[in-house]
Amino acid sequence: MNEDAKHERFQIITPPYRIKVVELLSRQQMEIADNRERRSQAIKKAGYNTFLLKEDEVYIDFLTDSGTNAMSDNQWAGMMLGDEAYAGSRNFYNLDKAVQDIYGYRYLVPTHQGRAAEHIMSQLLIKPGSFIPNNMYFTTRRVHQELAGATWVDVSIDEAHDPESWHPFKGNVDLKKLESLIGEVGVEKIPYMSIEANVNMAGGQPFSMENLVALREMCNGYGIPVMLDGTRLVENAHFIQRREAGYQSRSVREIVREVCSYTDGVTVSGKKDALVNIGGFLACNDKDLFLEAKAMVVVYEGLHTYGGMSGRDMEAMARGLYEMVQDRHVAARVNQVEYLGHLLLEAGVPVVVPVGGHAVFLDAKRFLPHIPQEQYPSQALSAALYLESGVRGMERGVVSSGRDPVTGEERRPKLELVRLAIPRRGYTHTDMDFVAQAIIKVYETRDRVRGLKMVYETERLRFFQARFRPIGGQLIS
Ligand SMILES: *Cc1c(COP(=O)(O)O)cnc(C)c1O
Repeated sequence: MNEDAKHERFQIITPPYRIKVVELLSRQQMEIADNRERRSQAIKKAGYNTFLLKEDEVYIDFLTDSGTNAMSDNQWAGMMLGDEAYAGSRNFYNLDKAVQDIYGYRYLVPTHQGRAAEHIMSQLLIKPGSFIPNNMYFTTRRVHQELAGATWVDVSIDEAHDPESWHPFKGNVDLKKLESLIGEVGVEKIPYMSIEANVNMAGGQPFSMENLVALREMCNGYGIPVMLDGTRLVENAHFIQRREAGYQSRSVREIVREVCSYTDGVTVSGKKDALVNIGGFLACNDKDLFLEAKAMVVVYEGLHTYGGMSGRDMEAMARGLYEMVQDRHVAARVNQVEYLGHLLLEAGVPVVVPVGGHAVFLDAKRFLPHIPQEQYPSQALSAALYLESGVRGMERGVVSSGRDPVTGEERRPKLELVRLAIPRRGYTHTDMDFVAQAIIKVYETRDRVRGLKMVYETERLRFFQARFRPIGGQLIS
C-alpha cells in the first residue's frame, strides 16, 4: 500500500465531456463579483452565515456539491421520458435495475433525498438507549440516529482528526475503539455499525478495502450488521483504485460493487455521486427490513415506487448511476478538486491533507490562529472569503458540530474547517485559479480577520440558520 499519500504527484486529468449548454450568471451576480461594498452588505444581512446568502449574491458557489451537479445530455434526454404515473412508474423500474447493477443490493426504497433514507433506517433499527459506532459523523445521519434514541460514538482512526496527517485512508475505522465500545456497552446495545464512504467531515477521506474487510469480519463475529452511508462511494472507490495494492487494474464500478458486498444496507443521497439535483434511496438485502422500510416510506415520502421523486427525477438518477462509475469521470472530478488543493498547498495555505474527493478544506485553526474556537474561526473565515471575493464556502467546525444533546454544551471538534465543495462538471480550471487567488489574498492579510459572536441558533442542525456578529463590529479590520 502507498503509505504516504504525500508522494503522489499531481498531474492534470481532463474530463470525458464537452460543454454544450452554459448557465448565464445574473446581472446581480456579476455586480457581486465586481463590487466589495455589495458583498459587505450582503454578508452582514446574512448574519455572517454563508447559508443565508441568496444565490444572486454569490459569484462562485462552493457551498456544496449537493444537487449542484451538471447533468449530461443523456440525463436530460431521460427527463423527457418521465413517466409520472402515481404507481408503478417505468422510471422506478429503471432505477431499481440500476441500483442492483451498480451496488448489488437486492431491495430498493426510493426517497426524496439522503436524510429521508437516514430517517427511515434510524427509526427502524434503533431503539432508545442504543449506541451507534461511526467513522466520524455526518450531520444529518447523526441527527437521525440521535432522534431515534441512540448515542453516537466516534470510532474513526486518530489520524482522521489530524488535518496534517498524510494517512492515505483517513476514513478507516479503528477496530480497537470499536471492540472496546462493544466490551463497554454490550453487543445487544449496538443495532448496527454505521460506516461512511469518503468521510465528508474528515475532509472527503476514504476507507480502505482492507479495513472494511477486517471490520466486516469483526462485526460478523458479534452478529452486528454493517450499514453504509454510500453517498460518496465512487470517490472512495477511486482512492482505493489509486492507493490500495491489488486494485489498480480494477474498475471503479467493480470496487463499488465489492464494497457493497461487505455491507448489509445503504443510505444514499443521489445529489452527490449520482449526478442529479434531487433524489436518494435506501437499499438492503434483508427482506424484513425492506418490507418495513417500504411500509414507512409511504407515510413520510410517497408511494414506494417514487418515494418523493418525480418519474423524470428517477430516470435522471438511473442514468446518472451508470455515468458516475466511469473511471475517467471520477478521476477527472477528483483531479479538479486536487488541482485547487495543489495551488493552495504550493502557496503555503493550510489545507487538510491529503486533499479529499469532493472539496478542499481550509484549516481554520492554522489559518486564523489568533481566533479561539469559541469565536467560531471557520465561520469567520468563510465570511471573510466571501467578503473578499464573492466565493461561497461553508463552515465545518464548532458551529456544524452543534451541542451535545444531553449536556447542551457546544461540542468542540478537533477539526475547525472551511469547506469549498466543488460541484461535479459545473466549473472550469479557470474558476479554480480564481478561487485559489482569492484565498491566497485572504491568507496574506489573515491577521486582520476578527472572530464572531453567535446571536441566534436553532436546536438542531444549527449551522444552517445561525446568525453572527463580528466581535468589535468589523469582520476585517
Ligand atoms: C449530503 C449527505 C447526506 C445527506 O443527504 P441529503 O440528500 O442532503 O439529505 C448524507 N451523508 C453524506 C455523506 C452526505 O454528504
